[in-house]
Order: sequence, then C-alpha cells, then structure tokens
Amino acid sequence: MDRELLEQTLADLGQPAYRARQVWERACAGAGSYEEMTSLPKSLRSELDQRVPFSTLELERQLEAGDGTVKALFRTHDGHPVESVLMRYRDGRRSVCISTQSGCPLKCVFCASGQMGFRRNLSAWEIVEQALFFLRVVNSTESSSSGPETVTAKPEPVAGLSNAALMGMGEPLMNLEAVLTAVRALPGLGIGPRRTAISTAGWVPGIDRLAGEELPVKLALSLHAPDDELRGKLMPVTARFPIAEVLAACKRFYAVRRRKVLVEYLMLSGVNDHREQARALARLLNPKVFKLNLIPYNETGAFRGSSRLAIDSFRETLSKAGLEATVRVARGREIEAACGQLAGEPGTTGHT
Ligand code: SF4
Repeated sequence: MDRELLEQTLADLGQPAYRARQVWERACAGAGSYEEMTSLPKSLRSELDQRVPFSTLELERQLEAGDGTVKALFRTHDGHPVESVLMRYRDGRRSVCISTQSGCPLKCVFCASGQMGFRRNLSAWEIVEQALFFLRVVNSTESSSSGPETVTAKPEPVAGLSNAALMGMGEPLMNLEAVLTAVRALPGLGIGPRRTAISTAGWVPGIDRLAGEELPVKLALSLHAPDDELRGKLMPVTARFPIAEVLAACKRFYAVRRRKVLVEYLMLSGVNDHREQARALARLLNPKVFKLNLIPYNETGAFRGSSRLAIDSFRETLSKAGLEATVRVARGREIEAACGQLAGEPGTTGHT
C-alpha cells in the first residue's frame, strides 16, 4: 500500500486527517484487504479498493522449508520479480529478508540476483509490502486470534515480526531514499531501526549518507575477499570502490553511529578460504569496529562451498590472528532461500 497515495486519496475524498493513520494501522496489524477493515464505512472501503491498491506485489510462488523458513516470489505491477524470505527462530524471533531492487546492477559473479541484471529500483512501499506479506503469514500461522475485526475492537495483538534485513535482491544503498522511507515505516510493523540491518556491497557514498541519518540501523558489508584483485573478480564494484575506501567509509560510519559493522564473508572452496587469506582478513578488520560472519555457500553453480572442516580451520586461523568470527546457520536450504534463485535465474546466492 502506497501510503502517500493513501493520504492523498483520503484527503481528496474529504476524509478526516486520522483516517490514513487508521487504515495504515489496520494494515500493520495484519489486515489482508480493505474489506477486512470493518471499522471503515463500507463506501470508503470500496473507494479505496478502486483507487489505492492494497498491495502492488502479486504473489507468484511461496515455498516453506521444514525449519519454518518461508520464501516468496512476487511480481511487481509491471512484471519484475522480487524475492523475500521469512526466517523463524526457536527463540521467537521472526526475521524478514527483503529486496530493495528487482535484480541488481552490481553483478557479483556468485549471485543469482546479479546475474539476472538490473530491472528497477523498488518503491519504499514495495519494500514495506514484502514485510507486510510476511506479517500476515506469521499471524495466520501463529496467532489464534485472527477473527474478523469488529467496529469497537482494537487490532488484536499479533505474533508479529521482530527483525528485518535489507539483504534480498539489490544494493540498498543505490536506492537509499526509498530504503530510508521504508525503514522509517517498519516500526509500524514492530520492527524498529535497531533491529533493521542494511546490507551493502560497498557503495561508499551510500555508507556515508547512512552514517549521517538519525537512524540507528545496523550496517552489514559483503566483503568476500581480503584483497582487491580477488574481490574485483567476484564483485566488480571493487573497481569503483576498492576495499581500503570501503573499510574507511565503514570506520566513519562506526565513528558517528557507534555500531559495529557486520562483515559478511562467503566461504568459497579454493577461492577465498586459504589460511593466508584468513590472516590477511584479520589484518584488515579491527575487531573494535567490525564483526565477522562466515557464510556457508549453497553449492549449485560455478563455485563450490567450503567444507565444514575448511570453515572451522579458517575460523581458527582468524582467531589465532586476533579476529573472532561467527558462522551463519544455513536456513531453508531445500527451498533455495538465497535471493535470485526462486526467480529461476542462474547463479547461487543473494546479497549475502
Ligand atoms: S551480492 Fe548483493 S550487490 Fe552483489 S549482485 Fe547480489 S544483490 Fe547485488
């Protein structure tokens, strides 16, 4: 739902100022259509139906893994694919990984979204709609209190979402205006900026701009190699922004926001998992500024993922060199939970 269009339409219809907030709050409480908002006059519900699409993303496929991970493939109104993932954790967290672009212009060679090419930026509301969709999935499968709304009833307490990662298709910092608007809207769904992570492949102007925003979001950097030569082969954006410039921007972000930057490092067998590369990585990353997360790789394309043994040994070398790292737990593997895969494009992973 495009909130600006909603506000304009309600103003044009001569509705009181509180209406837009009322409609938005109902959507954020898990309503799936205007029809369900029975506290609105019936005539207004049909007007809104005609004038403000409740959702502009059409669900094309939805897959659920045994661990509760749900992956959705949507189409925008003009036919572009958008993928998103819901991850459920035993401790109760419900985290959504959402896309900010359809496809991606940065063309990382290991990434299905990059291989798909760039389709277009998503609007702020197309970004938020992905989270709204999963909110309804969570409510319908985990809450027993999703009966019809009554005129006097407040929205029922909902199971809700807890975290968001803007790590799906696309480079969020190349679509920053829409991303910032979306991040400011997510608290309506229960996801505050402190529990929102924005991932970048190292788009330096965007990192600096984000540092200047009064939004306590987390920043994640997809690094994947300890030197420019290798990183340039994996991530062409390195030619524009070499590692030293990217890390300098991350340090400026830390200096202003006082939040450590999470560095993501995909483990590719024989490519970036040698001991010397672990030592080089430890020399690059100051643990006062950076946290390192090693990511096992889904093996389906040109690259093979490092074995568990190789990952453990890489981690041990890092630790001896003074840098501790975590290893990401793979989720939803059987439904190809990395972005770009569900759209049926070649390649193996998303914005990690
Ligand atoms: S890894 Fe991220 S930046 Fe690189 S092509 Fe994929 S979506 Fe784009």
